[in-house]
Amino acid sequence: MSKEDTLLWLQSQRDIGIFIQCCRKSCKKWRYCDDFHDPVDVPKLWYCKMNSNKAIASCFVPEVPKMEAVEEDLIENKYNCGSLVWAHMHNYLWWPAIVDDCPENLRYYELKESSIIPVKYHVTFFKDDIIQHAWLNPRSIKAFVKYKKGTIMKKNKFYKMNDKKSLEKAYTLAQSAIPLSIFERLQRFSYISRLKNMRESVNQFDEEEDNEIPPTPPLKRITLKEFCLKNRHYTENKFL
Ligand SMILES: [Zn+2]
Repeated sequence: MSKEDTLLWLQSQRDIGIFIQCCRKSCKKWRYCDDFHDPVDVPKLWYCKMNSNKAIASCFVPEVPKMEAVEEDLIENKYNCGSLVWAHMHNYLWWPAIVDDCPENLRYYELKESSIIPVKYHVTFFKDDIIQHAWLNPRSIKAFVKYKKGTIMKKNKFYKMNDKKSLEKAYTLAQSAIPLSIFERLQRFSYISRLKNMRESVNQFDEEEDNEIPPTPPLKRITLKEFCLKNRHYTENKFL
């Protein structure tokens, strides 16, 4: 499978539930929960009883042992691929972005040695004109829904604000993505989807150009007088 195909395949794979730890001090069990696919949406206080899977919705139900393959794959992530965020590149404005699989290494997070806490996340910015993406430290990322625009704009005051209009556009676009599922967000705003769409629209444009019939120059209109003058000789002889 090509890198591009893998990235597209990963989009649906990213849209899965998460393991959440019960906040009850006497419990602290980890539960798989399909109610949330974005860690950003998990309430600050979460208890076993809140799980919609009633079979494990009680602190009295023993923790379900995780399969080895699952255990190996688990990380302690603040964001999932498809999470909407405010992201900040050095010397630049805080800007709406989506956590997204990197087109190079096919991951959306970077781990350090044996730790399972990501030290970097890969994001793609909400921008119309270019596809801009970056690996950022978690300190340079904030959950989009948890940080109001006003708070972010206060932070942005320290930087040159020459593309306020584009920022407004990006904000509206990111807001439109809030109700979407992880998969739908990635299908529309991820690096690879946007690259694909861009390529398709360029091809479409080329095709349209190929199909275009060159316009015929409009016939020069001449008045009857002009016609007579032009064909004076003929008219003179023939008709007059
Ligand atoms: Zn519990």
